[in-house]
Amino acid sequence: MNTFSEAAREIEVKGEYDVIVVGGGPAGVGASLAAARAGKSVLVIEQFNCLGGVATAGGHGHISKYDETNTGRRIVGGIAQEIREALIAEGYGMGGSHGVWFEVEGLKLILDRMARKAGVDVLYHTFFCESIVEDGVIKGVIIQNKTGRQAVYGKRVIDCTGDGDVGYSAGCPYEIGRPSDSKCQPVTLMFTIGGVDWERVEEFKRDYKKQYPEDNVWWKLEGVYKKAIENGDMRPFQTGNMGWWWTNTRPDWVGVNFTHVIYIDTTKAEDLTRATMEGREQCYETIEVYRKYIPGMENCYMISTPNTVGLRESRRIMGEYIMNENEVKGQATYDDAIAYGSFFVDIHCIDGPGMDPTIWRPGSGFKYQIPYRILVPQKVDNLMVAGRCVSCTHVALGSLRVMVPCIAEGEAAGIASAISIDDGVMPRAVDVIKLQRRIVENGGILSEADIVRYHEVEAVAV
Ligand SMILES: Cc1cc2nc3c(=O)[nH]c(=O)nc-3n(C[C@H](O)[C@H](O)[C@H](O)COP(=O)(O)OP(=O)(O)OC[C@H]3O[C@@H](n4cnc5c(N)ncnc54)[C@H](O)[C@@H]3O)c2cc1C
Repeated sequence: MNTFSEAAREIEVKGEYDVIVVGGGPAGVGASLAAARAGKSVLVIEQFNCLGGVATAGGHGHISKYDETNTGRRIVGGIAQEIREALIAEGYGMGGSHGVWFEVEGLKLILDRMARKAGVDVLYHTFFCESIVEDGVIKGVIIQNKTGRQAVYGKRVIDCTGDGDVGYSAGCPYEIGRPSDSKCQPVTLMFTIGGVDWERVEEFKRDYKKQYPEDNVWWKLEGVYKKAIENGDMRPFQTGNMGWWWTNTRPDWVGVNFTHVIYIDTTKAEDLTRATMEGREQCYETIEVYRKYIPGMENCYMISTPNTVGLRESRRIMGEYIMNENEVKGQATYDDAIAYGSFFVDIHCIDGPGMDPTIWRPGSGFKYQIPYRILVPQKVDNLMVAGRCVSCTHVALGSLRVMVPCIAEGEAAGIASAISIDDGVMPRAVDVIKLQRRIVENGGILSEADIVRYHEVEAVAV
């Protein structure tokens, strides 16, 4: 490799915070709000111009999953539930027991306001560059933005980059992708279209089975895409929709989760650029298919592609414990549980269109607990991780990666950081009983008793 020696230089210290949260996605939102509400000074560093990560900058207006499989009983509360309630109350979205569907711009505004109200310092347009580590303890981070290059000190740092950028730079052990060749799940550029006559799409839906009898569900549109591919109207990059996000607040808009670009190294700018350009081509190709094949969509048009291509998988920072797929499928419980998860093992085909053979769908009543130790990296002290880069296996991540558990992990990491500062201990030595008590006090759900309590309250409210 050709190299260049950068000269050492003095840089400004921007300040010192109790807690620095790197990455303002679902995990970063949970972490920063929780730490600030616990009375800590908090800085969030975010490369884009909004909080929410994949949910906003990634254009993905759907947050899941709040309920135990098929029972409708809510198993996650706290900040994830607050966000859902705010989206619906403020008229940006609609929800079922599974998740919430919303206008992306509405969530950006809600999260800005929540951060301001909690007293979180947010720094947009700022890229995390390096971890400052001394004797195995993280002391802060180096950032770069229009202002220049600066250092920020923090008593605790929480890596919510999704890609494990902070843990990687700090020297924590990590894994990436599937075990055989480190390849990650495909990436997707979301897009939002307008000009949809939804009533006519509903008619098409009612008639769908007659036209495409081989399809099990209409919304995947597998028969439509198959016909379009056979007719040469589209390349075979994907076989079925992964989501069509429609809300009654914008009835002529649809958010489309369909494009698929494989073999992208999510830690390389060149690959992300290639994925974005190919993704954009696929978006426009798909719009042409909708115009030609779907009644009610003859006049649909592109509203937007998002700031960033959506990444399903990247580095996982190895922690005090590594959660595996048998624990997910076996509905594991832990003494140090900080939240529940319940999503199926959702792994998109790594080598082509469709779903991966490792996909796994659970039965009714499925849920598992998430242990605190997967938020605590090996080797480096005063660092925590939350979200897509927690300590788990490639297959376990297929379930853990959805936004509700990411928010809940962030919330737990934020509270744990505050406790660890107050008690003068490293995050790995936090009193877990105290942490769990604080999570539940904040509306979190950690036991069957909590689930029953909330279920009864919600049943009465309905
Ligand atoms: C196409 C797609 C569809 C999905 N569908 C769903 C769904 O329907 N429901 C659901 O719940 N989940 C879904 N997911 C999964 C979910 O969106 C993600 O796993 C989740 O957003 C992860 O949260 P996170 O906070 O860990 O990471 P992210 O959402 O990726 O957020 C990370 C944040 O960190 C910032 N960041 C990263 N590196 C740096 C850096 N060096 N400097 C500064 N900032 C940085 C990013 O800009 C981003 O804002 C989907 C994911 C994808 C990609």
